[in-house]
Amino acid sequence: MKFNSKLIHGGISEDEATGAVSIPVYRASTYHKPFLSSNLKWEYSRSGNPTRAALESLMADLENGTAAFAFSSGSAAIHAVFSLFSAGDEIIIGKDVYGGTFRLANQVMKRFGLKFTVVDTRKLDEVLAAIKPGVKAIYLETPTNPLLEVSDLAAIAKIAQENNMLMIVDNTFASPYNQKPLELGADIVVHSGTKYLGGHSDLVAGIAVAKDEKIAEKLAFLQNSIGSVLSPDDSWLLMRGIKTLGARMRIHEENAQAVIAYLLQSKYVKKVLYPGLKTNPSFEIAKKQMKGFGAMISFELADEYQAADFVNKLRMISLAESLGGIESLIEVPAVMTHGAIPREIRLKNSISDGLIRLSVGIEDKEDIIADLDQAFKNLD
Ligand SMILES: *Cc1c(COP(=O)(O)O)cnc(C)c1O
Repeated sequence: MKFNSKLIHGGISEDEATGAVSIPVYRASTYHKPFLSSNLKWEYSRSGNPTRAALESLMADLENGTAAFAFSSGSAAIHAVFSLFSAGDEIIIGKDVYGGTFRLANQVMKRFGLKFTVVDTRKLDEVLAAIKPGVKAIYLETPTNPLLEVSDLAAIAKIAQENNMLMIVDNTFASPYNQKPLELGADIVVHSGTKYLGGHSDLVAGIAVAKDEKIAEKLAFLQNSIGSVLSPDDSWLLMRGIKTLGARMRIHEENAQAVIAYLLQSKYVKKVLYPGLKTNPSFEIAKKQMKGFGAMISFELADEYQAADFVNKLRMISLAESLGGIESLIEVPAVMTHGAIPREIRLKNSISDGLIRLSVGIEDKEDIIADLDQAFKNLD
């Protein structure tokens, strides 16, 4: 099956017990054993739940993995993946990973003895230079947040394989519609299901997908031991969202193209960051490894002091953190998602005070552009 059909029919698309074409929400916490000796598939819902299992098998199909695991948030999925490692192990981590991932690494996992080396994963020589005894894995995002920088997944996978390291990719921004890291050599993919997979800004969820059986077994053990599983209700809701991922992404991207064309000609905009622009240094690698370039756009205002005024004047586009929803969401990284990073470090990482991140929704593109346009024209 091709990808868009898999979205609808992949995994377990029909309830085994009734034939219902929408998998029911099985809320039961426990399952009756007819006899003490009965060996049942379902025992207790932390260890396994039919609704969650349907979502997990769908995600394994979509990312071309052996097995997938659903968690109560993207952060919980990443925590379970970090828990594969032990005190003294070292992980090379991308410099622009999600703020919550950076916090989890630095303020939680480090206390348990994990070590992290921060690297610009676009630069293969920096990745190579970070490899030393004790390095067990490389963890990265591509495209990154909010600069939308792209790293070469196949090239990094080759380095990881040659050096006996696991490669873990956070595929939240691209979604499996546009990028399949396991096919390019990664070992584990993680997602915040809260974003494009769910797609409707109405749930918080996380997914980890393993390429091979051995890692899948370890993740199953960790998911059950740590216990941060996704509820049956949210598993159902996430599955429902995933079914329209392809339909949504096509409109997200069509709208993004129109918004980019508008931003590029605007005198209020200094710079547009998008991996699909031919002028973007990431363009060739993005074209090689992504089916489409997504609908996340960052741009710098010509006058950076106008960032607050600009976002305050928007009427339809929501000023909010998060991304990947059907509604257009906009934010100012310097004071919102990346506000916890000290200003000098933030500026050194090219996240200026006038940088705006836009998650282009699936409204009519004319309305998105009209809203941006009125906000620019009404600037004080
Ligand atoms: C949101 C996000 C996360 C964290 O996911 P939660 O569901 O909010 O816990 C991780 N990685 C990326 C790239 C994200 O955008």
